[in-house]
Amino acid sequence: KETPTVPAPTDPAAKRAYELDRAHVFHSWSAQGALDPMVVTRAEGSYVWDGEGNKYLDFSSQLVNTNIGHQHPKVVAAIKAQADKLCTISPSYANDARSEAARLVVERAPEGLNKVFFTNGGAEAVENAVRMARLHTGRQKVLSTYRSYHGATTTAINLTGDPRRWANEFGNAGFVHFFGPFLYRSPFHATTEAEESARALEHLEQILAFEGPGTVAAIILETVPGTAGIMPPPPGYLAGVRELCDRHGIIFIADEVMSGFGRTGAWFAVDHYDVTPDLITFAKGVNSGYVPLGGVIISDAIAATFDERVYPGGLTYSGHPLACAAAVGTIEAMAEEGIVEHAAEMGERVIGPRLREMAERHPVIGEVRGLGVFWALDLVVDRDTKEPLAPYGGSSPAIAELMGAAKTAGLLLFNNYHRIHVVPPCTISEAELEEGLAILDEVLSLADAHTTSGAVVTAS
Ligand code: PLP
Repeated sequence: KETPTVPAPTDPAAKRAYELDRAHVFHSWSAQGALDPMVVTRAEGSYVWDGEGNKYLDFSSQLVNTNIGHQHPKVVAAIKAQADKLCTISPSYANDARSEAARLVVERAPEGLNKVFFTNGGAEAVENAVRMARLHTGRQKVLSTYRSYHGATTTAINLTGDPRRWANEFGNAGFVHFFGPFLYRSPFHATTEAEESARALEHLEQILAFEGPGTVAAIILETVPGTAGIMPPPPGYLAGVRELCDRHGIIFIADEVMSGFGRTGAWFAVDHYDVTPDLITFAKGVNSGYVPLGGVIISDAIAATFDERVYPGGLTYSGHPLACAAAVGTIEAMAEEGIVEHAAEMGERVIGPRLREMAERHPVIGEVRGLGVFWALDLVVDRDTKEPLAPYGGSSPAIAELMGAAKTAGLLLFNNYHRIHVVPPCTISEAELEEGLAILDEVLSLADAHTTSGAVVTAS
C-alpha cells in the first residue's frame, strides 16, 4: 500500500480528477481499495507537479521511461506536426514517420540487425521476439533468468523471473528459468566477477543439457537487468551466452526495453559488452513514452525467414504514426543535444561517486551498482548477512518510511522490494542531481535506524 504522504488535491480540477479516478479507474498491479494516487497536473524536464501545485524531482523517470525528460519541445512539436498531417494509418501501408523511425533505430543497432517490427510497448515486443524465435527455429522452449522482468502479457510475464509471475502462470508450458550472474548475492558462491561469470555460464550450460538444447528456441536476457536490481553483467558473460546460443542454434534475445536509448549512457546496453544478439526488444526510451511505442530489431537471418513465409503477428496500431513521429523527434533530439553522452558523464562523474560516498556513511547501503543514469542501492538490515531491508516480493516499514519521506521532501524514487533505484531522465542537470541526491542522503539516515548497527548518520 502506498503511504499517503501527500494530501488529497484541493485544486478543483485536480480534486475532480482524483475523485473520478477513485470511482472509475481500475489501476494496474494494485489492490484497488488501497490506492491513493497522486494527481499529476503538469510536468517539465525532470519535474512533475501535483494537484496542490507541489513540485517533485522525478528520480524514477516514471517507470524508467522518460529518458528525454517531460515535454521536450522537439518531441512535442514532432507529435503535433504528425497529428496535423496524419493521425493514423494501418500497419499495411508505408508511412514516412514509420520509415524514418525504423532507419534511426537500425542505424544505432549492432551490425546485421536491419529491420524493425514496431509494437505498442515492451511486453508486446517480447511476445513477438519469442514468436519470431520459435518460428525461425521450429522449437518451443524459452529460457530466461529468475532476476528479470519482461512485461505483463501472457508470454512476457511467464518469462519474467520475479514474484509477479507467480499469480500469472496458469499452467503455461515451455518457460524455463535459470540464474544469471549477480556477484553481490551470488547463487554460485563466487567471490570474484570472473568466477561469477564462469560459474553462471557453467550453470546455463547444465540447464541446456538437461532441457535438451535442441528443444530451446531462445534465451532472453535483459542486457543489464533493470527492475530486478540493475546488475551489470560481469565481463565475458554475455559473450559466453552468445557462444552457447551459436553452438546450439538458439536465438539470443536481448531485452533492452529498459536499458535502451541512453539509459546506460549508450544507445543500447549491448554497446558496452561487444555482443550482437539476434533480436533486440525496445520500448520506453525510444520516444520516452510520449505515445506508446516498442519494437523488435531483427537480424538479417531471422528477417529472411519471413521473406516467403507469412509473419503471423501484428495489431491494428502497430507502427502508429504519432508514436513513430515521437520516436523520430526523440532520437534526433538525443543525437543533436548529446543526451546519451550526457547520461554517461552524469553516471561516471556524479551519480556513481556520490552514491559510493553515501555507502561509506550509511550502513543501510549494502551495495551500489549501475552505469549511466541506471543505478541501484541494495538496502540491507545487516551488511554482513546481507539480509534485505524488505522481503523478496514485499515491502517493509523501513522502506515505506524512506519512500514517504523522500516524497514529502519533493523527490520521487523508484522502489522495488528492498532496493531504491536512482533512474532520472538522461537529460537531468548536475544541479538537479545534486538536489535529489541531497534528499536521498537525508532519507537514507531514517533507514539506517532500521539496521542492526542502528547507526543514524546525519548528512554532511
Ligand atoms: N522488458 C523489460 C526489460 C522491462 O523493463 C519492461 C517494463 O518495465 C518490459 C519488458 C515491459 O514493457 P511494457 O511495460 O512497455 O509492456
